[in-house]
Amino acid sequence: MTKNMTKKITKEKKEKIIKIKKRIIKESSNLEKNYKTTFKDIKKYFKIFNKAFFKDQLNPFNDIQLKKMNGCWGQCVEDYSLRKGTKFFCLEMQKDYPNKKEFLTTLGHEMIHLWQQTLKKDTGNHNSLFYSFRPKFKKFGLNL
Ligand SMILES: [Zn+2]
Repeated sequence: MTKNMTKKITKEKKEKIIKIKKRIIKESSNLEKNYKTTFKDIKKYFKIFNKAFFKDQLNPFNDIQLKKMNGCWGQCVEDYSLRKGTKFFCLEMQKDYPNKKEFLTTLGHEMIHLWQQTLKKDTGNHNSLFYSFRPKFKKFGLNL
């Protein structure tokens, strides 16, 4: 690949991220409207966030469950399959959120935990590695 081609690809990637950014900000701007969680949206925004925040390196959650949880918006649960001898990660989310922004924030939040535990072999705590995403999220109008 020539240098110019590499440059062009980098530029296209940057433009794509800017587009994603605008879209996320727009879509999460209505704070009044209740949001109902769907698997379709989880998959859709997983892909989008993977590109925007994780260089497309994150593997999807092994399982997704929508359930009522007390005291938290979402969870990334690590489990171990004795039969297969492998670890797996389950995303648990609420069936609805006060608004779409809260849904997007929660999904992004749990994706960081997945990133910490799978790619970084980290504890997955709310440590400095976790909060290193704060500025990136802020640019997309999301809080950590
Ligand atoms: Zn957390």
